[in-house]
Amino acid sequence: MSFILSEFDIEFVKLKIAKHSLEYHIDKTFFENFNNSDVLSSDVKVQVLLDRQESMLLLNIHGDGMLNMQCVRCLNDVSFNVKPNHKCIYHLNQENFNKNDNNPLDLDVVYLASNEFKINVAQYVYESFLTQIPMVVNCELENNKSCDSTMLEKLKGVSKNEREKGTDPRWDALKKLIDKK
Ligand SMILES: [Zn+2]
Repeated sequence: MSFILSEFDIEFVKLKIAKHSLEYHIDKTFFENFNNSDVLSSDVKVQVLLDRQESMLLLNIHGDGMLNMQCVRCLNDVSFNVKPNHKCIYHLNQENFNKNDNNPLDLDVVYLASNEFKINVAQYVYESFLTQIPMVVNCELENNKSCDSTMLEKLKGVSKNEREKGTDPRWDALKKLIDKK
């Protein structure tokens, strides 16, 4: 695990039975750690609220900020607001836990063995963004800004040539996005 992601380690054994709040600034390098190069820049504050209880950790991740990505149509930069959120539960001392207990479906549930003393929340912080990034990023996300028409014309020319060769670069770009999901 990289140095940056180790910032997201939480040694829960050292935490008192109480509610704790941790704050992170999520920038481009965070996404790069997850091999996500679609995010061109990021300025998002994320808060992890951790409710340390006797037998479990309840995590509520939420944030607010701006992401910058490339429009799939005209390739211009698009900035848009995101409000990442995600919840998860870590059950401590897995050995004693009755797995037949019902857990709400919208929660991630993790079971920790009694010898574990820390968790890393980077993956869940990343997941908190996934529902916030649209399948197709285009200029309309930015206050209904329209695409760069000169660029669209240029791309049309390129894609016409590409079509003659049998591939469409817009479709390839879209496929790349879908494959990453
Ligand atoms: Zn555009």
